Amino acid sequence: MMTPLDGKIALVTGSTSGIGLEIARHLARAGCRLMLNGIDTPSMVEDAISGLRAKAADEVLFSDADLTDPKQAARLIADTLDSFGAIDILVNNAGVQRVAPIESFTDENWDRIVEINLSAPFRLIRHALPSMRAKAWGRIINIASVHGLVASRHKSAYVASKHGLVGLTKTVALETAAEPITCNALCPGYVRTALMESQIAAKASAESISIEEAAKSILREKQPSQSFVAASDIGAMVTFLCSDASSQITGSIFTIDGGWTAQ
Ligand code: NAD
Repeated sequence: MMTPLDGKIALVTGSTSGIGLEIARHLARAGCRLMLNGIDTPSMVEDAISGLRAKAADEVLFSDADLTDPKQAARLIADTLDSFGAIDILVNNAGVQRVAPIESFTDENWDRIVEINLSAPFRLIRHALPSMRAKAWGRIINIASVHGLVASRHKSAYVASKHGLVGLTKTVALETAAEPITCNALCPGYVRTALMESQIAAKASAESISIEEAAKSILREKQPSQSFVAASDIGAMVTFLCSDASSQITGSIFTIDGGWTAQ
């Protein structure tokens, strides 16, 4: 088996489900040692860890750091460094969504979304960079969204946070450009994960249609391919961006969106 990232230490936030778990699977298959993170139930965490151990990675650790809390974000980095001695790859994947018109969007929801989707990546990058600089190698990949490039109604905090994450990506790329460290962002369209299922269920209930009709209707509205993006495609792209072939790719913003932003 080819393990191009043999022995690299990867921290993937929000990796106990959905896109983050698929990214962790791809990095494990490429030879990475992993620090997982998330705030899901103990059984989901156990499934994620045992699944990864069974497949490829023999070194998989987990942190339940809640990224709404700056102290816990700092602890996540400190625990990774204590356990593995370095951080080579940081994937800022944890993210949350709430959908409501701006007049009824609560301060609490705004703060939570901006904290997890934007402020936590800022803090984690700041804390992880010294380790990357010490080893003269690093890869930072921020999972943004098409909503980092275009907007949709009723997603003010999500769209603002993801646009911010795209800006943060470019800034970090410039600050590390002369070093063997890269920073890029991925902008997926709709991927059918838990985050998406709640939006599909809300549409089905509001329009009294089935879940599958609601899913098709959501795709028809935005994603010309009429298909959901596979989480494994995002895992493959992350692995490529960690490879030697991508050493001159930095500050780039990649869409994986079935044509959404080509319209
Ligand atoms: P998901 O809900 O399946 O997974 C989210 C992960 O984040 C989980 O592991 C969860 O435990 C973790 N998380 C949530 N709050 C956290 C907190 N406070 N601290 C630490 N971890 C926390 O979502 P997903 O669809 O896999 O989304 C992953 C990323 O991809 C997000 O940044 C999301 O914005 C982005 N994205 C998703 C889609 C999509 O259609 N699903 C599209 C574009 C971008």
